[in-house]
Amino acid sequence: MISQSSGSDANSSRIWGPLCCNCGRATTLAKSWTNDNPGRRFFKCVVHGFAKWADEERPYGWQKVSLLEARDEIKVLKESVKAMNVSGSNSTSHDLVNKHEQEKKKLESEVMAANEREKMLKQFILLSWGGFIVVIAMILVIGKN
Ligand SMILES: [Zn+2]
Repeated sequence: MISQSSGSDANSSRIWGPLCCNCGRATTLAKSWTNDNPGRRFFKCVVHGFAKWADEERPYGWQKVSLLEARDEIKVLKESVKAMNVSGSNSTSHDLVNKHEQEKKKLESEVMAANEREKMLKQFILLSWGGFIVVIAMILVIGKN
């Protein structure tokens, strides 16, 4: 299940995705904050909601846990800010939320960098295995002759 994003991100520019499979409307890039897929981007149709994942890989491990913690922390803060606004405006609480938004963004970029590193490592392992297999194959061919 994909939650309808409650707090729309005003800062992010609209990124258009592929057409919706159900109605053919253009989709926009949105971010999921569900327990299963925190921080995972997807293409969203105005009518059907979720259309397609933009990030192929699912969030996992400590990165997922960190993102969920950041999400819940921000949720709590936003709610406390709302409560404060009702009982009288308080500018410092806004600064606090902004600070946490920045921390969240920083966390996201760190997660992306970690994913990049892992991809490179996977490729490296794949390449070394490829080289190993070639060497073995060569030894076998030479041995037969
Ligand atoms: Zn649609």
